[in-house]
Amino acid sequence: MSAPVTLVLATRNQGKIREFRRILDSISQGTINLVGLEEFSHTTEVEETGSTFKENALLKARSVCKETGLPAIADDSGLCVDALGGAPGLFSARYAGVHGDDRANNAKLLKELESIPEEKRGAHFTCAAALVLPDGREHVTEEIFEGSILFAPIGDHGFGYDPLFRPHGLAISSAQMSADEKDLISHRGKSLRAIAPHVISLLTSLG
Ligand code: IMP
Repeated sequence: MSAPVTLVLATRNQGKIREFRRILDSISQGTINLVGLEEFSHTTEVEETGSTFKENALLKARSVCKETGLPAIADDSGLCVDALGGAPGLFSARYAGVHGDDRANNAKLLKELESIPEEKRGAHFTCAAALVLPDGREHVTEEIFEGSILFAPIGDHGFGYDPLFRPHGLAISSAQMSADEKDLISHRGKSLRAIAPHVISLLTSLG
């Protein structure tokens, strides 16, 4: 058997690396060696200047591929709320001003939806995943996770807006689901499972 092909994931977030690894390993059977950005000391932080999730995922993957000379994969995700015309969308991580302040972001979301009744609180998470190879080949996937916004946070699993997000057809928030349960139906789980066969076929053609 040939040596595994190295694929760089454009993140330093260990939770994200574990999640990508879990999904890729289940179908790649050891043919791919996924590494995070912590293995590379000099990579530039990419500005997410795209106007779509797909563009931002591509910007990140292209930059990491160029800087490392290795195949790279990146994702970009966010929450889109119907009653807010799709906001916070691309600005989900910094909706209340400070990047990654989940508590403030959730408080702002509840305030914005204060007067919105249950039947108009529809929302979805989106996740785009992009694969870029040094020879210029690219593949992008995008998937959504539909649901609605609750009136108060509940649950302590997950991250971000999970305590306020009730997946369609369920009576609990996504912060009350286990990681495995959420992976099965989430935007990120679906997007990674959709790109995984492309990762495997494109990378094994290099190996
Ligand atoms: P990024 O894709 O890591 O830039 O994430 C963007 C932001 O979207 C996160 O900081 C969260 O606020 C939100 N987000 C994306 N996916 C999820 C999810 O699965 N649960 C809760 N919040 C999420």
